Amino acid sequence: MIRYLPQWSLTRRKIFTNCARRFALQYFNMDKAKMVRRKSTRFIAHHDLMIKCTRIVFFELLSDLHRGVVWSDKLIISKMRFQINIHTSTKANTKLSLKKKNLLIRNGFLRLKKLMKQEIPRKILDKSIKEWSFYERIKSTKFGHLDVYCSPDIVYRENSVWHLVRLNFQSEHKQPFLDLELCSMLLWSQGNQYLPNLADKFVIHGLSFVKGKWFYRKIRPSQKLLQETKQLLEKDVHNFNLLFEKLYRNGDYDALPLAKYSLYCKRCPYKVNCPINLE
Ligand code: SF4
Repeated sequence: MIRYLPQWSLTRRKIFTNCARRFALQYFNMDKAKMVRRKSTRFIAHHDLMIKCTRIVFFELLSDLHRGVVWSDKLIISKMRFQINIHTSTKANTKLSLKKKNLLIRNGFLRLKKLMKQEIPRKILDKSIKEWSFYERIKSTKFGHLDVYCSPDIVYRENSVWHLVRLNFQSEHKQPFLDLELCSMLLWSQGNQYLPNLADKFVIHGLSFVKGKWFYRKIRPSQKLLQETKQLLEKDVHNFNLLFEKLYRNGDYDALPLAKYSLYCKRCPYKVNCPINLE
């Protein structure tokens, strides 16, 4: 019997939209032989490594900020260096020259500095936002039969309004479903779906890094938007499962649809044995 896969996350959605083969290799564990292949070919692009390290450093920075400790630029750089070093010391395919390392550290540092100049982080820093907390998206929320990874990165409260903030350290240029994707944070706030006057209780904020800049999006959610968000999640998970069924029947990852744009393949961890490189 084919098992049902209930998980939804923004990362899953983005990968699925771009390449079915990559999605399947990342999230479907069909058999041990394929797993060995997955592990042996897995690599992480330097740019993705920088994003990962920058995100880790940002949450460390927030954690200290929450205790009233403000970091200097020197400390941010040193934390970035530490993260880049530990993430490149274990895998042969992430070995880096000092010049390349310094470039990644600088890119991550600048990304963080620009982020801290945005209104919400600035208000946290100058303490005009007093009641706030932060979350790393590691726990899922049960929503009907789905497991949804949708927690906000930062939550703060002003008067009786809850502000849910999502940060995207590397966003795609075109985001046609951005509002609905951001509204998935509402599901994290347990039991909210039946609340009246959603717009009076929540404000949704999105900060996305695109082409060297942070872009800001603010949404006053409505019941209609929340409904559309739920439909989007249901449809996504349905499509993930259709793909799983297809793979289950023929067992061939390489027969699944590939990325339409070769640019997307540049940073793919599964490009080594991908048929796209043989075409
Ligand atoms: S290399 Fe490109 S086509 Fe192949 S799995 Fe990765 S993203 Fe898909």
